[in-house]
Amino acid sequence: MKTNSLSPQEPVAISRRNLLKGGTAAGGLLLASHVIPLPFRQAHAESTVPVVAQDNVVWSMCSVNCGSRCALRMHVRDDEVYWVETDHTGDDQYGDHQVRACLRGRSIRRRMNHPDRLNYPMKRVGKRGEGKFQRISWDEALDTLSANLKRIVKDYGNEAVYIHYSSGITGGNFCRSSPSGSLVTRLMNCYGGSLGQYGTYSTVQIAAAMPYTYGSNEGNSTSDIVNTKLVVMFGNNPAETRMSGAGITYHLEQARERSQARMIVIDPRYTDTAAGREDEWIPIRPGTDAALVNAIAWVLITENLVDQAFLDTYCIGYDEKTLPADAPANGHYKAYILGDGDDGIAKTPAWAEKITTIPRDRIIKLAREIGSTKPAYICQGWGPQRQANGEQTSRAIAMLPILTGNVGINGGNSGARESTYTISI
Ligand code: SF4
Repeated sequence: MKTNSLSPQEPVAISRRNLLKGGTAAGGLLLASHVIPLPFRQAHAESTVPVVAQDNVVWSMCSVNCGSRCALRMHVRDDEVYWVETDHTGDDQYGDHQVRACLRGRSIRRRMNHPDRLNYPMKRVGKRGEGKFQRISWDEALDTLSANLKRIVKDYGNEAVYIHYSSGITGGNFCRSSPSGSLVTRLMNCYGGSLGQYGTYSTVQIAAAMPYTYGSNEGNSTSDIVNTKLVVMFGNNPAETRMSGAGITYHLEQARERSQARMIVIDPRYTDTAAGREDEWIPIRPGTDAALVNAIAWVLITENLVDQAFLDTYCIGYDEKTLPADAPANGHYKAYILGDGDDGIAKTPAWAEKITTIPRDRIIKLAREIGSTKPAYICQGWGPQRQANGEQTSRAIAMLPILTGNVGINGGNSGARESTYTISI
């Protein structure tokens, strides 16, 4: 369904702003004279013509660091964005759908025009922490920066220059603050380099851990979710983090519509992603996802639901057949799960029940569903890895698509968060 917004070319006589202004003034008159209120039917009809002919409408995008980069149509007047529309082009068919922005994107002008936003170079004139700054010209700011940069590199070398990690606008290609994407870093690359950094505060554990399992931290594209039959999400809540038409939530909806894919959400919270759209929500004690996965693996192995051909062909160390010769006896995954490894603990559903608070019968049912439905899109959010030893949680979850041979196929996934993530060094 298209929005009611009009094209800027359409000649109209009244702007939304003027309408509001006029409405306010008229409202004041009405109140002052105690006249009966507005003719609502007429007011509603007029509100469908919000754009004046002189508006400059430009395409832009939402730079919020959810990363979906939804298209936005900025209405500019007097060099100021005064109204933001979302995309309303296309036929609204999947593949050519309208990339409708979420409320964060649609309200982006409040960020852009916020009075606290730093619009000019400001130089500290007081002591640190005193909060005293003075506006200076761009020329002075650039001269100060370049003179100090040259001095520091000359006296101390490029190792003395560090570009601090930050985020918030990482959705913008040219504003990315990650070292690989930042314009400042690219400038420094042309000037002899600068100090790098490791990871981000959002993703460092999954980004570092997954390559130990796969050699990379990549998963299937979000648009491939429509090909799946079963979505299993661990601690992933895209309806709040990437809620728009460019984000995963739209693809999830399409998967359910087009493929009748079932969706199981494993999360301590009953999130917006789960609410009303899940087939099953499995609440779990926070931080115990790995124990749940181990118990699922125990069921898959003991009920012969693993994809043995996939494991034999592509994996090292699942069982004795592919265990490297120099590895300790029973150092393989299967032995660890069945209780034949170092710790001697069988990772049964009863064992996991005490840790996760998920009843053993529910774990068995979940395992059977995962083991018998293909393709299955198994993914995780960034929440499960944000804890001590969170790397191992990420890798544990990745074992489910490996055990079931859902890696590298349409509608499958590696167990990573949706789409592809690469480590920033
Ligand atoms: S989903 Fe929302 S926050 Fe993310 S890019 Fe789109 S409009 Fe921006």
